[in-house]
Amino acid sequence: MLLGMATVSSNLAAFKRVYGVTNGKGGCWLWSGSLDGGGYGRLRVDGKDSQAHRFALMLAGVEIPVSAEVGHTCGVRHCVNPQHLELTTRATNPARRRHGPLLDEFGRVERSR
Ligand SMILES: [Zn+2]
Repeated sequence: MLLGMATVSSNLAAFKRVYGVTNGKGGCWLWSGSLDGGGYGRLRVDGKDSQAHRFALMLAGVEIPVSAEVGHTCGVRHCVNPQHLELTTRATNPARRRHGPLLDEFGRVERSR
């Protein structure tokens, strides 16, 4: 479903207000609620745990495929500004699969799935 820009910005404004999102450095929207084990903002949607940044991206009108991961271009994991988020899918990054395990951001070897 395509949303008009006015709808999108009012949805996002309501989202920020309801969840107490604050403005941080560099335009980041900082989640003030609970965080999951990875340091990402967490909220409940329809009784299910959901990641706050994914939810923000959906509110911005972006469809997120089930297989997609949502990354932060700003590197701030509890940032929920849709403009700082990008979709990444394993399908769009085949080199990563071909060359075996890589180190994740903590320097651990990623397990192949
Ligand atoms: Zn950010």
